[in-house]
Amino acid sequence: MPHSLNPELRRAVAERIRFYNELGIYDFYRRSVSDAAVADEELRDNHPESGDEMSPRKSTAVAMPIAVEENIFEVVAAKPEQGVSDPATALKIIREDLGDCTRCVLHKQGRKQIVFGVGNPKAELMFVGEGPGADEDQQGEPFVGRAGQLLNNMIKAMGITREQVYIANIVKCRPPGNRTPEREECDTCSPFLMRQIAVIKPKVVVALGAVAAKTLLAMNASMMQLRGRFYDFKPTGARDPDWDGCKLAVTYHPAFLLRDPRQKGEAWKDLQMVMRELGLKAPKTTT
Ligand code: URA
Repeated sequence: MPHSLNPELRRAVAERIRFYNELGIYDFYRRSVSDAAVADEELRDNHPESGDEMSPRKSTAVAMPIAVEENIFEVVAAKPEQGVSDPATALKIIREDLGDCTRCVLHKQGRKQIVFGVGNPKAELMFVGEGPGADEDQQGEPFVGRAGQLLNNMIKAMGITREQVYIANIVKCRPPGNRTPEREECDTCSPFLMRQIAVIKPKVVVALGAVAAKTLLAMNASMMQLRGRFYDFKPTGARDPDWDGCKLAVTYHPAFLLRDPRQKGEAWKDLQMVMRELGLKAPKTTT
């Protein structure tokens, strides 16, 4: 039979969950007491010298509250946009929740503003890049620089407009000198992107480049291995029973295509696969 946590422990657990929520983490996985006991045992076996220290802390602070107090998680883990049916309003709520974000080091490394995302809140197609560059940081909108011009052309070639799709990035703040975002920065920021995807419920997400692909799919593979197929994708934390998730395709980042235009044909093959999935036809070109 479930028994209550003492109030002090309950407060401590609630505080810890609120802290994770602040970081954009809303999903918690429950370990049964027996799983926790096995894990403790394994820890003791692997670290016999620290066994005495580890086991009491783990079994009280981690395993017990999760096993006995389910409601506390349901209440505190609810995302603020949950239950909001209008995607535009839900996106605004996520933006407000993000606030003037200081969750990772990028906030103090010269960003001018947060680049949240832009486009149709009910888009069937979403593009996800890596992170804002100088132009995006300046204008507060993703893909507005040279890479953005090429992305616009790619979208147009698919027979649709930039306004019809939604565009966002894995990290919402410009990494200094346009360096690749660190894993920790991606992990800290991407829960907000996951929530955006869960609200928009697109039919297809296109990951632009390796950082987007690896973060969204949580797998480490080369672009060659990642391209050329669809993945079933459901953002972490998506809870709408009427939405089974979407397809995810991987293609080259437009900035890479600017550096190596010979790969544009390959990227076009990826986009054609997406067009088939969405029933899109390329516009007729007049010569
Ligand atoms: N590159 C990205 O990955 N995202 C942008 O918004 C711009 C350039």
